[in-house]
Amino acid sequence: MITLRDVTKLYPGGVRALGGVSLHIGAGELVAIAGPSGSGKSTMLNVLGTLDRPTSGTVHIDGHDVGRLADNRLSALRASRIGFVFQHFHLAAGTRALDDVADGLLYSGLRPAVRRRRAAAALERVGLGHRLDHLPHELSGGERQRVAIARAVAGEPALLLADEPTGALDSASGDGVMALLRELHAAGTTVVVITHDREIAAGLPRRVRMRDGLVVEDSATGPALTETSTARAAR
Ligand code: ADP
Ligand code: MG
Repeated sequence: MITLRDVTKLYPGGVRALGGVSLHIGAGELVAIAGPSGSGKSTMLNVLGTLDRPTSGTVHIDGHDVGRLADNRLSALRASRIGFVFQHFHLAAGTRALDDVADGLLYSGLRPAVRRRRAAAALERVGLGHRLDHLPHELSGGERQRVAIARAVAGEPALLLADEPTGALDSASGDGVMALLRELHAAGTTVVVITHDREIAAGLPRRVRMRDGLVVEDSATGPALTETSTARAAR
């Protein structure tokens, strides 16, 4: 589904956020990305999700070489195939849950009535069928994140990318959000979750660990042959 090859990302000022990452994520996987703050997790997720273009290296999604797609084709690919969930929910203030989720379908080409029906179904799916008319400030943190997830999955994307989705939640709400991501995965969505939480990472089938802009361990392939691990093996 996604393949990164030798991806680097340099920011102005000489920050090397990604130092040459290669990673393959197959359709139907559920992957945790862990690592200390500043290790490049969000940068990698943004590159995986085509929100950001790498400085060098290639990104393939569903066989498309993302670097060769024009911006409008890339936006279309993103809108139809990828859903995003962020730590701080990103809901529109003053917009009720149903409209927020329906607005996420604006570029789907569906008629407004159909968008609203899909939005209501997505909110039902995340257990918020009784909160359709609530505004963000009338919802708990866990409920806000579930609205954000409903928005991300209303268009039935094949790939869901979540950047610390439980980072702003108490542990009970966080567990609820993780249970929901597992359900979506079980229903066929490929899910990639960045998490600081070791317990959450340990509970997921594949774990990728990052440090200093590199993948230093991938449970699917074993420890990466970084200089450090090679040197360690030689001793
Ligand atoms: P993580 O999500 O693991 O905490 P990030 O991917 O956000 O890490 O950041 C990786 C590195 O890149 C950090 O050193 C961060 O300060 C830097 N960085 C991230 N975004 C930018 C940016 N827009 N401009 C400059 N540096 C950035
Ligand atoms: Mg981050």
